[in-house]
Amino acid sequence: MIVKAVCPHDCPDTCSMLVTVENGRAVRIAGDPDHPFTNGFLCTKVAKYLERTYHPDRLLFPQIRVGEKGEGKFRRATWDEALELVAQRLQWIADSPDGPQAILPYSYAGTMGLVQGEGMAMRFFNRIGASLLDRTICSSAGSDALNATYGTRMGTDAETIGAAKLIILWGTNTLTANPHLWPFVRKAKANGAKTICIDPLRTRTADACDQHIAIRPGTDAALALTMMHVIVRDGLEDREYIAQMTHGWEKLRERVMNEYAPKRVAAICRLPVETIEQLARDYATTRPSFIRINYGLQRHAGGGNAVRAISLLPVLTGDWELVGGGMQLSCSATFGIKESHFNHHEWIPPGTRTINMSRLGEALTETNDPRVRAIVVYNSNPASIAPDRERVLAGLPRDDLFTVVLEQFQTDTADYADVLLPATTQLEHDDLHKAYGHLYLMYNRRSIDPLGEALPNAEIFRRLAAKMNLDDEPLRASDEEIMREVMAKAESQVSQFTLDELREKSYVRIGVPSPHLPFASGAKLPTPSGRIEIDSAFVAKLGLDPVPSYVPPYESEERDPELARRFPLALISPPAHQFLNSSFVNVASLRRAAGKPTLEIHSDDAQRRKINAGDRVTIYNDRGAFTAEAVISDRVRPGVVSAPSVWWGKLTSDNTNANQTTSQALTDLGRGATFYDNLVEVRI
Ligand code: SF4
Repeated sequence: MIVKAVCPHDCPDTCSMLVTVENGRAVRIAGDPDHPFTNGFLCTKVAKYLERTYHPDRLLFPQIRVGEKGEGKFRRATWDEALELVAQRLQWIADSPDGPQAILPYSYAGTMGLVQGEGMAMRFFNRIGASLLDRTICSSAGSDALNATYGTRMGTDAETIGAAKLIILWGTNTLTANPHLWPFVRKAKANGAKTICIDPLRTRTADACDQHIAIRPGTDAALALTMMHVIVRDGLEDREYIAQMTHGWEKLRERVMNEYAPKRVAAICRLPVETIEQLARDYATTRPSFIRINYGLQRHAGGGNAVRAISLLPVLTGDWELVGGGMQLSCSATFGIKESHFNHHEWIPPGTRTINMSRLGEALTETNDPRVRAIVVYNSNPASIAPDRERVLAGLPRDDLFTVVLEQFQTDTADYADVLLPATTQLEHDDLHKAYGHLYLMYNRRSIDPLGEALPNAEIFRRLAAKMNLDDEPLRASDEEIMREVMAKAESQVSQFTLDELREKSYVRIGVPSPHLPFASGAKLPTPSGRIEIDSAFVAKLGLDPVPSYVPPYESEERDPELARRFPLALISPPAHQFLNSSFVNVASLRRAAGKPTLEIHSDDAQRRKINAGDRVTIYNDRGAFTAEAVISDRVRPGVVSAPSVWWGKLTSDNTNANQTTSQALTDLGRGATFYDNLVEVRI
């Protein structure tokens, strides 16, 4: 029997998977050849999903802590006992003078499923009046940037980019993090397109492109703005499109002409003037041109401004008019499915506080209004992935903190749990998925029975609500009822077909025109002006400069020369090819392929520090330190070091990872994490 499933991981490709099941056991997993975006293959990581599903370390029954926090020692419990304990403790905290806001949910995109993600969990936390979590760890700067500029998160229909004559892959390692775009890039190349990769690192994607531009980290906005300078200086802008579709162009025009001449920006980005001039001219004179950006480039102080500036390039050239032209970061809003449609936000008590997940260390060690006294973690592994890990690990062992973890494995975070609850994998439950890199709504069918006593997240929260005597109907909704509600309340592009049709077909392209040109002339945008807001009312309301500019990294010579003298190297910690954030690190074959924690360092920087290839080095700053094996490489430019991530601390030799050094500072827009705004020094 072959069952159609969906990859649940945080990736734009949202692949359709074929799972072969024999005698109740999944024996093969493959990409669906019929799905127009999946194209019959899975990435390196998810090709090992069966190894992950049947991993000998899967959590198979509920457990209660018996050792010290962090030791990871537990005893087996029944579901009844474990949930009774959780219900009692949460109720006790909610009834205490601190109230329910002392309870903090902590979750992100361990699954992107609309049901097993937040479908029941958020209803539960809204109902009990827990603190709200600002989910900022990955994409919020870029999301707010698009929302401010376009009023929505849409972009080029990825299936059309074979028609592009120039493709710029900007801050995105496509072959690792968005590999199903690559066949479309190849198609464009076969039609004569030029491909350019802009990235501080010479990634495998950079190797596969015609040109690599090794920009200094965190300076992407300056490059985009100087490209505009050249375009306007040389009279190459599409004046008709700009006049018809934008609001505030004159202000930006004046800014780029006065402040962003290539000579000045060359010094900021550490690029030759000729490279900038050529890039701008190539971009302005090649039609259609397509730019793919990804979330890495918004993980620094000016991340929101960077995305705003780059997203305006196709406005200057009128590429939004052309099939195959334009830009994509996310197309998730095209689905017209909003969490507020089905998560019962009306239950949130007025005045409920919000805690930013990118500042978890602060929330656990400093926040006092009230103190966080319970944390319920699901779909995330904050002890590995949250910035400023030293602070997070200082908070998690607190005796007065009650920690519940829903997990498939005993992660770094699970070691700190008071109650550890076994969750199903994607093969063991049903779910509904939208995508952020293509336009298909997808149905994940359960392929196998849950292993051991594992339960789907939604069922765990349903049972917990019942234990707390919460009998509101939405807290009793089945997975299927949640899916029906999601689809019924979605906008017309989804609500025009039924859940039964979707389940039957397993995926359906949503009801938007094909090709989808969301910002072609005449489009009315959901911004205050109805136009593309170069001068953004949304940004002005935040008290920020409403017109895009270059905001230097917090940790840079421009903003903190003394810090830059002490810690002269910019550390980037992108996902290793074999890992997806901290998922898959415990899969033996993938960890073997990844080797061990490494630090790529340029030979100039290595020589200066007397570092040889293979040396064990310490990477440190004022926040903390981790160790890795030095790899001397011209894949990083001088002044930049790279530590492929995110390793589980417990699976390294000294229980550290790159997040010992990352900071809790936030981006300009979206209050996002600034993982790549991180100066360090390296020593043997
Ligand atoms: S490419 Fe992305 S969506 Fe596809 S299988 Fe891999 S992680 Fe999942």
